[in-house]
Amino acid sequence: MALKILLKGSSPSKEVVEKVLNKQELKEVEFLSSDQTAGQDYLLLENATNLNYDFKYLIGQARARGQGETELLEYRENGGQELELLGPDFVRNEAKVLSSDYFDGHQGTGIRYFLASGEGRFGIASTAHKNELIEVEHRPCLFLDRDGIINEEGDYPHKISQIIFKEELFPIISWARKKHYRVIVLTNQAGIARGFFGPREVEQLHTEMDQELRKRGFAVDAWYYCPYYWPKGEGAYKKHSLLRKPAPGMLLKALADFQINLDKSLMIGDKISDALQMPGLKSYILEGNYDLSDCPADTFSDLDAIYRQILEDFK
Ligand SMILES: [Mg+2]
Repeated sequence: MALKILLKGSSPSKEVVEKVLNKQELKEVEFLSSDQTAGQDYLLLENATNLNYDFKYLIGQARARGQGETELLEYRENGGQELELLGPDFVRNEAKVLSSDYFDGHQGTGIRYFLASGEGRFGIASTAHKNELIEVEHRPCLFLDRDGIINEEGDYPHKISQIIFKEELFPIISWARKKHYRVIVLTNQAGIARGFFGPREVEQLHTEMDQELRKRGFAVDAWYYCPYYWPKGEGAYKKHSLLRKPAPGMLLKALADFQINLDKSLMIGDKISDALQMPGLKSYILEGNYDLSDCPADTFSDLDAIYRQILEDFK
């Protein structure tokens, strides 16, 4: 999908914008005119000319109210840095509605880079750390089962020393990150209900796994686990739970915590219970660890085969 840009007022020239985008190796860019924005997600680049402040750019999240009108939800100033030097956190994910006073007080004070959307949601935000663009909301997501997918299947692993990462998964995480997907882990941890270990150990393990993955350059946005199990659990954890896959509870939690575009999202697991039945979500199930007869999703002999299929499905 081409990145659509509306240059407004005395915004940077098309040549300057193209130069920045070229550095980002973004070939698919379409410049809109203001009568082409209805119903579109686009990046609005606008320059207010009266520079009374010592910052050069304001970058904000805005929502298109109607033709030529935007509602500012949030902005940050860049303290005079060049656009190219802004970090990926420059535009935050959480939008909040600012009072109109706040907005009015800053009108006409700098160059404003707004993220706008004709559908009342956000599309792509400009950032420039390493010359990337990021999407700020409604990003697709790569959901991952843990045991058997991120790490080798084992006997209820719960310590980092028991974790052997499956390196064949790494290209898939890289692919997802390059496409600005979120990466979220959904894992059933019946070992808690069975009394083998507690939730704190699982959380500690996830913190350590997260650090190990980040060291290798693979960031994970969130780790969700289900501690409940029926009928073999103990105490408070012996119960049916919507959180336990194949029920969608963990996925719904993730959808509540992150703005996710399910239509372009995918799940990788190694059990029938990982083939989550949610509209739009595509599941890929790895063979070898469990009985997959009657699996409702496609199954694959290895993670390389899953990766090839993903590339085919998400061209
Ligand atoms: Mg598994």
